[in-house]
Amino acid sequence: MLNMAFIREHQAELERIAAKKGIEVSIRELIELDDKKRGLLQSIEGLRHMRNELSEQIGRKLSSGEEQDADRMKQKVKQSNATLTKLEAELGTVDGMHEQLLLLVPNIVSPDTPDGASDADNVEIKKHGELPTFEFEPKNHVELAENLGMLDIARGVKIGGSRNYVLKGAGFHLHHAVQRLAVDVLEAGGFMPMDVPMLARGESFRHSGFLPLGQEQLFRLEEDNKYLIGTSEVSLVSGYSDEIVDVHEPIRLAAMSACFRQEIGSAGRDVHGLYRVHQFSKVEQVVLCENDPELSERILQEMTANAERILQLLELPYRVVAVCIGDMSQKTYKQYDIETWMPSRQAFGETHSSSNLLDFQARRAKIRYRAADGKLQYCHTLNNTAVATPRILIPLLENHQREDGSIYIPKALRPYMKGLEYIGG
Ligand code: AMP
Repeated sequence: MLNMAFIREHQAELERIAAKKGIEVSIRELIELDDKKRGLLQSIEGLRHMRNELSEQIGRKLSSGEEQDADRMKQKVKQSNATLTKLEAELGTVDGMHEQLLLLVPNIVSPDTPDGASDADNVEIKKHGELPTFEFEPKNHVELAENLGMLDIARGVKIGGSRNYVLKGAGFHLHHAVQRLAVDVLEAGGFMPMDVPMLARGESFRHSGFLPLGQEQLFRLEEDNKYLIGTSEVSLVSGYSDEIVDVHEPIRLAAMSACFRQEIGSAGRDVHGLYRVHQFSKVEQVVLCENDPELSERILQEMTANAERILQLLELPYRVVAVCIGDMSQKTYKQYDIETWMPSRQAFGETHSSSNLLDFQARRAKIRYRAADGKLQYCHTLNNTAVATPRILIPLLENHQREDGSIYIPKALRPYMKGLEYIGG
């Protein structure tokens, strides 16, 4: 959320960004509502002041026996009260509309964000690792995993419908091994590992910027008015809402959780295999720090490097792209995606998303700290995937496959795989 003074100053820029981000919001209408709200507040304030003065005068008139004057003034107070009731009701309506529009306004974007419409316009800034060459016909992850008895898509669909799966045996262990490795890398980097609620109140989604926009992506439990999280960022950030925190040292958090997504906008896309499913697991990094753009930029690089380190430990080729405006969410100021090589797609596929939100999310959640000058300031918040699985199993299985259908296990994963060097073979 941005403040109104900022919105007024940056109206044209915010309108351009909203259009690019595909958000339907009229900044002009918001400013008009804000003017109306200010006008109403002034009138209400003026009337309250007048009423207080009249009440005092009535008291004086009554004690000096000027009953007629007192009665006239009482009449005026009555009229003021009626007007006040009307204006207060109007203010309530305007305030509600104002709040609704304000929640739709996008964050500004960093000057180095590419100006594009979709992920096709993202700009590659770095590549790491060699793409594999196979001297045999490589298989895709589903064939590999089902042949090795690690995956049962049919049972997953039988239980949960489309975009579901069952991982078993080595598949189960690999799924957990990548998450344990990610948590250990983050913990060594000063992150606090956490287990958080995966079913959260609507308020937690509004605080973290996943409602009202994003509603169609969420699974809702109607009766309880709660939603299943699509990312533990919701829980990690909203856990600090309405608090004054100590960010002298940035607060580094890492949660391991299941994530649930409707994937409504992706109908017909990535229906085969483990790429786009309704339930997946993710180790997420979230950082809260002081309101200093240079500091949060450094932390964005640090968090991106953490994800890269994990991919390097998994011995996977990847590239980092600067995400363009059109591919960014409402709250994002600057974003890198990491895409990992997926041989069956003959393409890099997105496996990580690293974002700096400046103070946009902290304003919504009211997360503040006391700055050196004693004033309260909103924090900057950032988030990034450490690992998301089963999507990461696609490059793991496909890049590390051998001719006999077995899978090489990277050395860093073996301690979490009972020392196993290969699956199968
Ligand atoms: P996001 O929170 O949307 O930036 O996603 C973070 C990461 O979670 C992505 O880069 C993917 O690795 C993974 N992910 C997101 N959505 C899905 C999905 N529907 N199925 C599997 N993995 C997903």
